[in-house]
Amino acid sequence: MEGWISLPKIELHAHLNGSIRNSTLLELARVLGDEGVLVSADVEHVIMKDDRSLPECFKLFDLIHVVTTDHETVTRITKEVVEDFAAENTVYLELRTTPKKNESKGMSKRSYMEAVINGLRGIDAVDVVFTPACGRTEISISSPINDSCNGLTRRKIYVRLLLSIDRRETTAAAMETVQLALEMRDLGVVGIDLSGNPVVGEWETFLPALKFAREQGLSVTLHCGEVPNQKEIQAMLDFLPQRIGHACCLEEEDWRKLKSSKIPVEICLTSNIRTETIGSIDIHHFVDLYNAKHPLVLCTDDTGVFSTSLSREYSIAAASFGLDNREIFQLARDAIEYAFADDGVKEDLREIFDSAVKKLGL
Ligand code: 5GP
Repeated sequence: MEGWISLPKIELHAHLNGSIRNSTLLELARVLGDEGVLVSADVEHVIMKDDRSLPECFKLFDLIHVVTTDHETVTRITKEVVEDFAAENTVYLELRTTPKKNESKGMSKRSYMEAVINGLRGIDAVDVVFTPACGRTEISISSPINDSCNGLTRRKIYVRLLLSIDRRETTAAAMETVQLALEMRDLGVVGIDLSGNPVVGEWETFLPALKFAREQGLSVTLHCGEVPNQKEIQAMLDFLPQRIGHACCLEEEDWRKLKSSKIPVEICLTSNIRTETIGSIDIHHFVDLYNAKHPLVLCTDDTGVFSTSLSREYSIAAASFGLDNREIFQLARDAIEYAFADDGVKEDLREIFDSAVKKLGL
């Protein structure tokens, strides 16, 4: 199958500010360069660099946040990121982002998220279904992959949002994010993510907010095991989140606990290799988890920062692990079960995949 673009896909681990087009980042950096806020040539050098370690990635995120933190830009990047995923046939996208305060721009965590929602509302190129009440078809799908309207074939993408807690945040700030997520549930917010530099912050700091999120019925996913820290990995697995991301630095005992818990793992191949969290693709834990039939889902992490796409991640898995077309299709379809969406959406997604089988010649 050419590049796996025609395969319907589910994306469950994508960070908004990590998924910005390079062209947009460069344009934004040049504007700030012209205003004398930063030296745009320095930024260009950092943005265009291909391989970077995990600590270098977090430096890049700080830089990205300098160029993206105003409402208009947040709206623009949200729009572009969703359009890019839809263009490669992602039919369900769980997009995560850290709500940010920026007093100089009059930005609160809430207004940041409103800017994200405005981005979703502003998309014309595809039908975006981000809330049952958004006025677009959530019930009737005439042609499951693309809806036809006025003779034009339109793509359709379901989008749900996860609010990220940054590991630099305090318990109170994390709690504020969870509270905001609860208030924005009818705007498509379905869960909470814990992310940010894994060597910063303590698990105990975030635990009260994560517990509260769960008590209130939000789903939780955790960045787990990006660096060796067995005490934290064990505590995270004991928390029984609905999913974890990465799971790179687990020890024997952690693998046992993970496998018996059946917690689905969000696998980000290119991200793990580029950041050297995993030495090479042939020793990636995908193989062990896949052979053990452990729930897993291929994801991009940061399409912009790691110059990848979801289709590319599927191509890499097919080529590196010898998966045939049917196995790749099944891998993509299984991801529906690990999404934080409600049963109605999952039912629609199953139909989309099932009707794609014939078109894909499987
Ligand atoms: P944002 O939340 O600002 O939309 O997306 C960028 C942020 O996501 C980064 O600042 C960081 O907190 C988080 N992030 C992106 N990629 C990774 C990753 O690979 N690991 C971790 N731990 N956090 C990440």
